Amino acid sequence: MNKKNKRVLVKFSGEAMAGANGFGIDTEILRYIAGEIKLLAENNIEVGIVIGGGNIIRGVTASAGGIIRRTSGDYMGMLATVINAVAMQEALEYIGLDVRVQSALEIKEICESYIYRKAIRHLEKGRVVIFGAGTGNPFFTTDTAATLRAVEINADMIIKATKVDGVYTKDPEKFKDAVKLDVLSYDDALKENIQVMDDTAIALAKVNRLPIVVCNMFKERNLLEIIKNDAGVCSIVK
Ligand code: UDP
Repeated sequence: MNKKNKRVLVKFSGEAMAGANGFGIDTEILRYIAGEIKLLAENNIEVGIVIGGGNIIRGVTASAGGIIRRTSGDYMGMLATVINAVAMQEALEYIGLDVRVQSALEIKEICESYIYRKAIRHLEKGRVVIFGAGTGNPFFTTDTAATLRAVEINADMIIKATKVDGVYTKDPEKFKDAVKLDVLSYDDALKENIQVMDDTAIALAKVNRLPIVVCNMFKERNLLEIIKNDAGVCSIVK
């Protein structure tokens, strides 16, 4: 599988979609993210996207009251990611990009089902591919789904787009003495409880030597700088 262009998988949390509302989808955030993704496409970077579902529902939270079983809650969470994927598709198409949503659960009226060969063809043709419904399995996270898809499509890196500039020794929003770590190993990320991603996702990245880049999605052009010029503000787990 010879790639002509750089190929990346960008993971956004569902919460990011909610903006200040804390719930649902903020169309201004969609517009902003779409603009940043367009910059990548314009620079011949092939882009896959995974969006979480935490702005709508998470399995763990839904099942906390004991009425909804965890498995059902997780499927509800996966459906939530498809809602976000369709919203992002609209925002990207609105500004002229060609986009396909592929879902790990079959929802044939609104999107394609996930077929990795087809996903790669879309990417090669310059289409953005949004992967919905996580891995299609309960008890996993969208971080793991994003890592899995990144490995499957042979991405050069997975980018976890967050609210902070990278990986810190402590939560930088709570602790002033938090120190940013520019580069760390997979084992550091697993060991130090640094919470880059869940352990399953990091372990999958580790065995496949997939670099994990953690960056601030709200810094304009940061994604482009990171991917194209190795110059953005971020931390790298490799
Ligand atoms: N989920 C799942 N399997 C997957 C991916 C996601 O069961 O492969 C469910 C799980 O309930 C999770 C929810 O979907 O809580 C939303 O995903 P996540 O919490 O990872 O979203 P984020 O925190 O990124 O918004």
